[in-house]
Amino acid sequence: MNYKNLQEEDKDIFDAIKNEERRQSEGMELIASENYVSQAVLETMANVLTNKYSEGYPGKRYYGGQEYVDIVEEIAIERAKKLFNAEHANVQALSGSPANAAVYMSFLKPGDKVLGLKLDHGGHLSHGHPVNFSGMLYDFVQYEVNPETGRIDMDKVREIALKEKPKMIVAGFSAYSREIEWKKFKEIADEVGAFTFADIAHTAGLIAGEQMDNPVPFFDVVSTTTHKTLRGPRGAIIMCKEKFAKQVDRAVFPGMQGGPHEHIIASKAVAFKEALKPEFKTYAGQVIKNAKALAGELINLGYKIVSDGTDNHLMVVDMTSKGVNGREAEEILDKVGISVSRSTIPNDPNPPMRPSGVRLGTPAITTRGMKEDDMKKLADWIEEAIKNKNSENELNKIKENVKEFCLKFPMPGV
Ligand SMILES: *Cc1c(COP(=O)(O)O)cnc(C)c1O
Repeated sequence: MNYKNLQEEDKDIFDAIKNEERRQSEGMELIASENYVSQAVLETMANVLTNKYSEGYPGKRYYGGQEYVDIVEEIAIERAKKLFNAEHANVQALSGSPANAAVYMSFLKPGDKVLGLKLDHGGHLSHGHPVNFSGMLYDFVQYEVNPETGRIDMDKVREIALKEKPKMIVAGFSAYSREIEWKKFKEIADEVGAFTFADIAHTAGLIAGEQMDNPVPFFDVVSTTTHKTLRGPRGAIIMCKEKFAKQVDRAVFPGMQGGPHEHIIASKAVAFKEALKPEFKTYAGQVIKNAKALAGELINLGYKIVSDGTDNHLMVVDMTSKGVNGREAEEILDKVGISVSRSTIPNDPNPPMRPSGVRLGTPAITTRGMKEDDMKKLADWIEEAIKNKNSENELNKIKENVKEFCLKFPMPGV
């Protein structure tokens, strides 16, 4: 990117951006919710659509001058529908959490009962955690993963649903490494008369790339962020059955939001075009191959992985078997340029600020071109770093190796 004017206008911000660029390109990015957008997606975010107010929807706006904005938003909607085989798509949601707020608002009243996956079992804050609006406004009951298998226990989900009679069932996660049994969720919801809501924020790219099952054709409503495996700008979309289109659109605007960010919607459209290409299927397949290879290498080195492996792009690793907690592991790995996020493990005995695990994901390093063979090296660096946690000297050596290796894989946008 060319930041000539920014450099003259504001050196402080320019320098911070440049340093972040360097940090991103020299490091091994294993945060499962992150990715690198393409140069085209990046460029599209910096455009004059940011100057425009467009409250409303294409053809039904509350301001004039919408002839080009409408083109952009209509293209984004059409591509989203095609990508996920959706009857209706709203592309205005600003991010994942506001998208979920709009979903709840369109199907529920405050106080209604909802069933969602517990946060420390892999769920998201917006699936009913008490500190989040979702837990404050709605009466959430939570399902868990089976402590033996690390997988969602569908018999238990059914049992809770029959007992609690929720108005909505939420399926989706931030830290779960197995296929979700969408069809079973749908059957259970039908049995108790609940709406089905899938939050595919993490796996949208793997679903769009036809590597994982797609809930969109038979769930009532589906939300996703656009910036994780889907590799678009920060943002979200909501998809639903045509019969719910009006209520979902109304919940987003005027219910939750004001003017849409059309410059970001333009960038979402570009990302969807990229995701519709055959190359994106190859990318999504490689993400999963890399995750399986990394999990296999770590298991060989004696690491305990929740559910003993992965079907998707991520894995939750219990670090206590290596004598560190998740926070310590995050800090040690940060020192060698390997970026991970601490994570609870199911029924974690440790508190959330110092949980037992770390979550690792392969979407970003796969975008840079890494393959299965590179995962062995990566697992070895993780093991070496944890072993040498008290030796700054050894950690520095590993950091140099990681940096030299990463710089061989170009980072889009730099
Ligand atoms: C990331 C995520 C979100 C929230 O997205 P933000 O854009 O950070 O608000 C919502 N749900 C799930 C399952 C997620 O993983």
